[in-house]
Formats: sequence, C-alpha cells, structure tokens
Amino acid sequence: MSDSTSRPASVSESTTEKRLAKKTPNDFIFGKVIGEGSYSTVYLAKEVGTNREVAIKVLEKKHIMREKKNEYVMREKEVLTKLNHPFFIQLYCTFQDVDRLYFVLSYARQGELLYYLHKLASFDMECTRFYCSEIIVALEYLHSLGIIHRDLKPENILLNDEMHIQITDFGSAKILKSDSERTTSNSGRRNSFVGTAQYVSPEILTSKTACYSSDLWALGCIIYQFLSGLPPFRGLHEYQTFQRIVKLDYEFPEGFNATAKDLVEKLLVIDPTKRLGSQEMGGYAELKKHEFFKETDWENLTKTKAPPLVPYLPGTSHNPEMWSGHDSRPGFDDKRLVEIISDGFLSEDERVKQLQDQAKTNDYHRFVESNLVLKQGLIDKRKGLFSRRRMFLLTEGPHLYYVDPVKKVLKGEIPWSKDLRPEAKNFKIFFIHTPNRTYYLEDPESRSEEWVRKINEVWKHYYGNQ
Ligand code: ATP
Repeated sequence: MSDSTSRPASVSESTTEKRLAKKTPNDFIFGKVIGEGSYSTVYLAKEVGTNREVAIKVLEKKHIMREKKNEYVMREKEVLTKLNHPFFIQLYCTFQDVDRLYFVLSYARQGELLYYLHKLASFDMECTRFYCSEIIVALEYLHSLGIIHRDLKPENILLNDEMHIQITDFGSAKILKSDSERTTSNSGRRNSFVGTAQYVSPEILTSKTACYSSDLWALGCIIYQFLSGLPPFRGLHEYQTFQRIVKLDYEFPEGFNATAKDLVEKLLVIDPTKRLGSQEMGGYAELKKHEFFKETDWENLTKTKAPPLVPYLPGTSHNPEMWSGHDSRPGFDDKRLVEIISDGFLSEDERVKQLQDQAKTNDYHRFVESNLVLKQGLIDKRKGLFSRRRMFLLTEGPHLYYVDPVKKVLKGEIPWSKDLRPEAKNFKIFFIHTPNRTYYLEDPESRSEEWVRKINEVWKHYYGNQ
C-alpha cells in the first residue's frame, strides 16, 4: 500500500481532500469503536483542527498476512479509490504505521440498514421502493465504472445522517479491466465463491463467473426480504440454500404485493442475460420503468426525504383487518394498566410448592431453567409476512421463552429490560417492543389484553421501583 491515497475529489470537497491527504494517526483523535469486521476494527474519529467526524478502519498487518487477505484489502482500497458518488462510503485517505493500515472513510452515522430490518422485521412498500431505488442508482454507477460488488446485502448498506444509503464492503468486488470484459459484463475467469450464501446468484455457484447481473440477483433477494421479512432462499445449511438457488426453489408468502412480486420474478431469473436491468434486457432504463418504481423521482433521490421506516404488516386471509390497524383500542392503554394492576407475586412457600407441581405436570418445565411459569399459551409470532406458532412462557426472572410446540425445541427468548414494552393492538394482536426489535404477536384465543396485563405486572415487579 502506498503511503497516502486520496480519491478524485469533487470541487466542493477538494480543500478537505487536500487537508486529509498524507495524514498520520496523530492527525486524528480516536473515539469509540463503531464496528468490528473479520480483519478490522472501525473507530469513530475526529480530525484534529477541523473537528470533522470520520470513520477509521484499522487493519492489523500481521493478521491480514496470516489470513492471506492481502488481495482482499488491496481490492477494497482500489475500488474505494475509484468511487465518488453520494450512495457510497468515501475513502478520504489511507496511511500506515509499522503494524497497521488505516482507511479514513466517510462516517455513516445511522449504521447498518440491517439493524432496522432486524428491529422491524420488514419494511413497507414506500420504504422498500425508496431504498431499492437508491440501490439501483448506486449499482448503475458502480457498473458504469466496470465494478461488480458481488456481496450486496442489507449488512453492507450503511446509512448517513439523513438516512440515505452508503454502500460499503468492497473486499469481494470484481473490477473488470479490459473493454471486452466490460462489454460482455462477464469477468470470464473462474473465481472462487464470494459473497453471502443467501444473496449469491446461480451463475456464481454453477459456472463460478460473476457478471453485473449478479448484483441484480442480489437486489431481487433484497426486495423480497424487505417486504416479507426473510430472504427468498433459505436452507438449514449453506449447501441446501445453494441447491434452492440453482433450482430457483422459492415461494412468495401470502400478502406479498403483486407489483413487487412481478419485479422480483423478473430479477430472480436463472439466466443472467434475461434479468431485468441487464444490458441484454435494455439496461437500467428498463428496470427503472417497472411499475414498482412509478413514484420514484430518479433524478432527485439524494434530495428526497427518506420515508420513516415502518414494517409491512398487511392483513392475511384468516385475519384480514387485524394487521393493518395501527391504533390501540380504548381500554387497552398499557400505561394505565401498569397503574391499576396489583403486584400478584407469591409468598416463597407458595412459590416453591407451585414450582414442584410445575416440574411434575408441565411439559414445558424443562425449557424454563427452573423458573416459575407465570403465564403460558400458544402465540403466532410474526416476522414480516411469515408466521410461526410458538408456546410462549412468561416466567419469573423475568423471562419470556418461546418453544416450537411440535418439535419441542426452545427457539429463543424475548430479552427483558426496563425498556421492554407490550402494546395491545386489538383482541388478538399485541406487540412487544424491545430496544433492538419489535415482536409482532397474535393470540389465536383473542386474549392479547391478558398477555399485556401480565407482562406489565411482571415489569412492575422487577423494574417498577427503578
Ligand atoms: P467483514 O470484513 O467481516 O466482511 P465488515 O465488512 O462488516 O466485516 P468492516 O468494513 O471492518 O467489516 O466494518 C465493521 C463494521 O463497522 C460494519 O459492520 C459497520 O457496522 C461499521 N462500519 C464500517 N465502516 C463504517 C463507516 N464508514 N461508518 C459507520 N460505520 C461503519
């Protein structure tokens, strides 16, 4: 790596670029760690003198050599150096000392899009359209430079202050050097598998060649995931996922919007030359014309205000009106419930007796780590458009375990904290809000208010006096 590299600067940024060039670690005040990669640690930092915030990716030379990742790091730098577009992370400069390499990058303050996807499970049509439009503009630019990303996924889409995308992670990218490579949109040479199992395109798996269109396949997977809550190709292990990809073995869940479905079907096409947006199919102009993007103002995306992120919860056939409602019913005000409920916890003797009974009679006792069950019942746990029936077990501790009632396997636990908040939507539906995720739950017995009341009671017992 050379001592210092700055990317081509826009006119307005050129002064800053010059200032940032040929720097050393002493020119920055390093702050908190904002992320860890397999080969790097990313710090928030301030440039001395200007106070400008940047993200500095620090790579240990020894670690890179040991893991044989020199090429990966060089490629990332090479791609970042070529990029100059608002929808990409920007590389301001690089420098090194004896032990480490430093990449000084633009700081994506709002972090990963994946964080929001995990929190909400899915995005509504407007959010999906907005973010996918930005991804398309970004890909069009990237491909115009002869670069294939090859690892496009929600984790690699960061967000700036205004919640616009900043695509990152170019270690797996492919730069097409020759003109013939560029025009056939194919790297020609066989490459080892790169990318992430769920978003990898069939041609990378079968012929081990990537083309621009491989990024369009990933886009199809992302649109499907934003709207439904899960990526289209899922397996118990990578191999099963790969088999499903090459067989185009996926389904749309009920409630998937018809226009979005048409778009996804035109992107998830085995033959890369038949994908909407590929050069052979008329390029990006044709993709942008799809009905799904009718509302997109392509020329002004950077100036368009990002829509608030909300989940996609349309009604389902067995429960048409429920999921679309957003308001709590009168009488289900959880704050009021916290005030009126009494603390119904047991004396120690009574508790021990009930726990002994539970161990003998309750089939689910083995999942609750010897905690007394305060309430249990079958609940449909919804993630985007997918729903799974689980036995929910609210226990002292407090804990909220959920178990697959058929396979009798503990599937997880809703993490308790002072910030956990249940919210009844109607007789069947209730949400449990936690700092990192909202759980969308449906009680087939229509007793959502009982769950909310009991959870509030437990909350009051453990956190009420804090
Ligand atoms: P791997 O190398 O294992 O694929 P990675 O690409 O996520 O991991 P890094 O690029 O080192 O690794 O980033 C680590 C984390 O730091 C990212 O997941 C992201 O959350 C955060 N991060 C990276 N760059 C920035 C940036 N410019 N602004 C804000 N956060 C960033």
